[in-house]
Amino acid sequence: MEIIYRSFLASLEPPARPATDACSLCRRPIAPRYETCLTCVDTIGQVTRPASLVIPIAFYRLGSPAHAVLRGYKDHPTPSIRRTLSGHVARLVAAFLAQHRACIASAARTDWDAIVVVPSTTRPGSKHPLHLALASSPALASELVVGLHRTTAHLDHNHASDQAYRPASGVLRRRVLLIDDTYTTGARLHSAASALQTSDVRVVAAVVVGRILDQDQPLTRRGSASARPPFRLKACLLCGPAAKYTASGQIATD
Ligand SMILES: [Zn+2]
Ligand SMILES: [Zn+2]
Repeated sequence: MEIIYRSFLASLEPPARPATDACSLCRRPIAPRYETCLTCVDTIGQVTRPASLVIPIAFYRLGSPAHAVLRGYKDHPTPSIRRTLSGHVARLVAAFLAQHRACIASAARTDWDAIVVVPSTTRPGSKHPLHLALASSPALASELVVGLHRTTAHLDHNHASDQAYRPASGVLRRRVLLIDDTYTTGARLHSAASALQTSDVRVVAAVVVGRILDQDQPLTRRGSASARPPFRLKACLLCGPAAKYTASGQIATD
């Protein structure tokens, strides 16, 4: 089951730009009468200082090659495949940050001086596979720090908490780019951001590799794969050409 980097990228979908009818935080398409999706509203209401700028590199769907990569780099039973998939994830993040650092710093009005991966909830005490993946990238390793520790406070998809993580001393008073691999409800990400920001750490932005879309979320015209806008590494949601969405979340064809 080796998924080549190209098919990983090809199965990603571009996030909606701010000008379009999308959630102000996770960027998934929503009806124009809402500013923020109900999932994000629910999550950020549970913490004191959630992340205010969330940048998904891409969207992806369950069952896609992107899903296989973003799961398999953590838990594929074959170590050599895990290593390959880890390399894909690190390569994507490194390329994205190299191309869009200025976009993110401009939107946040400051650059970062440290990169922190949201710790694992299922592997307490060990480094998150994303941290290990990014550490193998020379471009990212120099800024990567272990900035958070998981506590025993309750945390799950439906329960975010200021107490779920404890900042490491090495990150205090720094400007941090927070990174996580997936965003479903944002509970882990906003809990991590809140733990940092209530402890004198500036969270410049939170980058997520992939925001999961529901299988039936109509970002594409049903039955017409060609209507799906291609994912392009050279465009982020802050600088790319706007994909236009109709009120029902489909790509407009004008
Ligand atoms: Zn949202
Ligand atoms: Zn950009």
